Amino acid sequence: MDAGLPVRAFFTDRNGGAGDKPYDTLNLASHVGDDPSVVAINRGVVEESAGGAVVFMKPAHGVGVARLDESYLDGREPPTADVLLTTVEGLSLATLAADCVPLLAHDAQTGAVVAAHIGREGLRLGVVDAAVAAIVDVRHGWARPQSVTFSVGPAICGKCYEVSSQVRAEVAARHPLAMSTTGWGTPALDLPRAVVGRLAELGFDRVVRHRHCTFEDRRLFSYRRDHVTGRQAGVVSCEGPLP
Ligand SMILES: [Zn+2]
Repeated sequence: MDAGLPVRAFFTDRNGGAGDKPYDTLNLASHVGDDPSVVAINRGVVEESAGGAVVFMKPAHGVGVARLDESYLDGREPPTADVLLTTVEGLSLATLAADCVPLLAHDAQTGAVVAAHIGREGLRLGVVDAAVAAIVDVRHGWARPQSVTFSVGPAICGKCYEVSSQVRAEVAARHPLAMSTTGWGTPALDLPRAVVGRLAELGFDRVVRHRHCTFEDRRLFSYRRDHVTGRQAGVVSCEGPLP
């Protein structure tokens, strides 16, 4: 599905590509037990859609940022990081998730694009701020909020993401908007709402939000629902500075 950014950007689902149960189909993660040759086929499908080289993130539920230069156009493996940024025209970035929040961004002033992976631990540690800081760093000054567009992709929703009351309290202490309750009345976290809320606090309100819940929608991978499963991607392509 189209991510709604001014550059080529999209979110994948389980349609297309290759793969057998429980990874069917179009699993893009190499660390979940799927056949590597199948993952390679699926990554090729995404590269075709992106129109060039795609760097697939190695997330670690942290706040690490990696800025990728021209050397990644040749298929180099990225360092472990939950935020990828590039200003290299023709390079695409992919964040992988199955319930966590895939966040994409584009800055019209510099042409920089960002792909970020936001789980509850990354959110608590400040990965949204890290993504914004990465955009600001490239500009050598505070961002004009209007020039940056964000896209929040499919993630587990606040009615489905059950956690213990202690975990909810820990995350909500930093992100009150994460406080939620499941459809069956137990403590929960609303990560997408917290991400959008934190961006608004920082002055960024150009945010496209895709409200598909990975847990409810079987067209999407959900770790919570299926445990052994694949990962979908959020992909954004750098097109250089816009005219
Ligand atoms: Zn849901």
